Amino acid sequence: METPHASSGQVDPRSAESRRFVAGERVGILLPLPLTGVYDYRLPAGMDVEEGAFVRVPLGGRQATGVVWGKASGEVAEARLRDVVASLPAAPMTAVMRRFVDWVAAYTLYPAGAVLRMAMSVPEALLPSRPETVLAAAAAMPDLRPTAARARVMAVLADGPPRTAADLAREAGVSSAVVAGLMAAGALMPRTVLREATPELPDWSLSGPMLSPDQATAAAQLVAGVGKGFAVTVLDGVPGSGKTEVYFEAVAEVLRQGRQVLVMLPEIALSAQWLNRFRERFGAPPVEWHSELTGSRRRAAWRAISEGRAPVVVGARSALFLPFPDLGLIVVDEEHDAAFKQEDGVVYNGRDMAVVRARLGGIPAVLCSATPSLETSTNVAAGRYRCLHLPDRHGAAVLPSVELIDMRLHPAERGAWLSPPLREALAATLAAEEQVLLFLNRRGYAPLTLCRTCGHRMQCPRCTAWLVEHRLLGRLQCHHCGYAAPPPTACPSCAAENSLVACGPGVERLAEEIAALHPGIRFAVAASDTLRGPAAAADLIRRMEEHQLDLVIGTQVLAKGHHFPRLTLVGVVDADLGLSGGDLRAAERTYQLLYQVAGRAGRADRPGRVLMQTYMPEHPVMAALASGDRDRFIAAESKARQADGMPPFGRLVAIVVSAAGERAADDAARRLARVAPHADGVSVLGPAPAPLALLRGRHRRRLLLKAPRDVAVQPLVRRWLEAAGVGGNVHVHVDVDPYSFL
Ligand code: ADP
Ligand code: ZN
Repeated sequence: METPHASSGQVDPRSAESRRFVAGERVGILLPLPLTGVYDYRLPAGMDVEEGAFVRVPLGGRQATGVVWGKASGEVAEARLRDVVASLPAAPMTAVMRRFVDWVAAYTLYPAGAVLRMAMSVPEALLPSRPETVLAAAAAMPDLRPTAARARVMAVLADGPPRTAADLAREAGVSSAVVAGLMAAGALMPRTVLREATPELPDWSLSGPMLSPDQATAAAQLVAGVGKGFAVTVLDGVPGSGKTEVYFEAVAEVLRQGRQVLVMLPEIALSAQWLNRFRERFGAPPVEWHSELTGSRRRAAWRAISEGRAPVVVGARSALFLPFPDLGLIVVDEEHDAAFKQEDGVVYNGRDMAVVRARLGGIPAVLCSATPSLETSTNVAAGRYRCLHLPDRHGAAVLPSVELIDMRLHPAERGAWLSPPLREALAATLAAEEQVLLFLNRRGYAPLTLCRTCGHRMQCPRCTAWLVEHRLLGRLQCHHCGYAAPPPTACPSCAAENSLVACGPGVERLAEEIAALHPGIRFAVAASDTLRGPAAAADLIRRMEEHQLDLVIGTQVLAKGHHFPRLTLVGVVDADLGLSGGDLRAAERTYQLLYQVAGRAGRADRPGRVLMQTYMPEHPVMAALASGDRDRFIAAESKARQADGMPPFGRLVAIVVSAAGERAADDAARRLARVAPHADGVSVLGPAPAPLALLRGRHRRRLLLKAPRDVAVQPLVRRWLEAAGVGGNVHVHVDVDPYSFL
């Protein structure tokens, strides 16, 4: 998506607030179900409601909670009209949020009800609170045999407010018996609370660090924009240039004006360092919003936000749908990150929808990155977004030098993955008591298991994908569907015994090489499956910061945001990894990822070094990384996309049909192809089997609609899907502005 110009502007809160419906009137209720339009109901005697009110209505034989969306559709006969049951004691959904729901639905081509469901993600928060029992740590710890599980429970409590027994067990990763045991022993004290505690208030009046002249200029511009309506500002600065410090100034200004702020981060579970910095700057933590929050914390957060008691929320993309009554600023940090794209359910891009949300609310949006997406750079070039640059690292830190290691000239030893130059650099860094990051974006031990005798490859029975060996778990796993099985001792195809061999490296295999090379060094492996939950990630970061680790082997979970002063060497084991496959953004993404990884080196006073192992040193991505010439790379990439009419210069909509049977999938795909839209400059590619032709046992076929930028694709696609009439057991997945081409 480029920008939401298609929409008319901001919502006028006054006109929206005035609308009320009175007893006896018909109202249109939107339900959080995959339905397109409103359902009509009647307000019974004695019930007046505002637009946006949450209400209970009868639906078939049960009841559902919905939102008063506006005028009734008039499609239901008077005799069949049913009464609204109750109006709920929760703040009505704001006019901005209702417009936002409609906008997202229209843009993504998902039913408004499905989008509404995201805006009602905590249904129980709409009901009056019930008293609940929470547990706090006792003032004095009784004499109790310390166990790891008990310690984890106490650590969770030390870190936050009292919690229910269930939440406590879940967050600490212990059984409920452990919590019950601590309670019985008097280590945990029960307390009854009626309402969620109000979050601590961040203090905007605390002063931040002395800003450098560049930082101060950028901060002043952001601050000046607060309260002045919709505008998008890109904060483009090299890693470590102080982008976070700069936007914190804008956050402080919004708080001073008494409004709310949303900061969106791509990997919220791993943002321990961000949270610490926020707390240091503002003296209190923000409210967190992400998928790992437990039930009662979700409810508390939702209510605090809707009642305006949560001034700052930091969250993943789903935080966009939280009920802010008075949002004053949205910051999207690492705006280029593909994690902002939601691929399941309603398929949307959180960064783009943040801009829409800001526009509808008439507030500024700030997009931060060291490697802005091509979409964002193009918007800057076209003058739609303003750009502020932070060209230098803060203080004495300088950008690391990036050196390419041509693996054709410096091959690793047989069965090993580190080339001699990388091994030497690693040894020198460890000798200097500095830290090393080895980056390999591959979880597990080996990406492929192969039979030496017959060549059989171990494949997922439900997906078009090789099984990845996870040796620590003793399993072969599918990274697409979660299928897992112990590795067989005999080849399933030729029955040869002990003939299966691991091919290629994953982080676990690299760990073996490191342990053999440098016995006794302290290292850890950081991948999404080895760092379970925010606590484990925070712990790893702390061990890095305190120099309890000499080396860390990590996947992309370690690529961004973190700041380790002693880390001076980054080794990229396979820089070419992301370049294979036909993804539109393969080069752009590889550049962004490796640039971010490189940015982990030398962030304080010690200069950093980055070594990248590649078989393609002449590739434009590698050349750009080595020369540090980002702008030239972006210009070349941009020219290539423009020549092909690809995003952001053209529009794409992907349609994936899937069915349990191959025939059904093919038939549906062909039916879609037959009625494909004809319009100027619009073409439809496919159908073709998806690269993941089989996923979770369903056969998948892809079609791709390509259109010039000035074509409104949504009406075309809507009519297309209606004309094809594909349904029944065939699932149709619509993806406007696709990021995944699998
Ligand atoms: P970015 O977000 O651009 O990667 P950060 O805001 O994380 O940069 O800053 C990098 C490091 O430099 C952080 O530790 C931050 O606290 C520090 N820093 C940045 N600007 C200043 C400043 N003006 N004074 C003191 N420390 C700063
Ligand atoms: Zn699978």
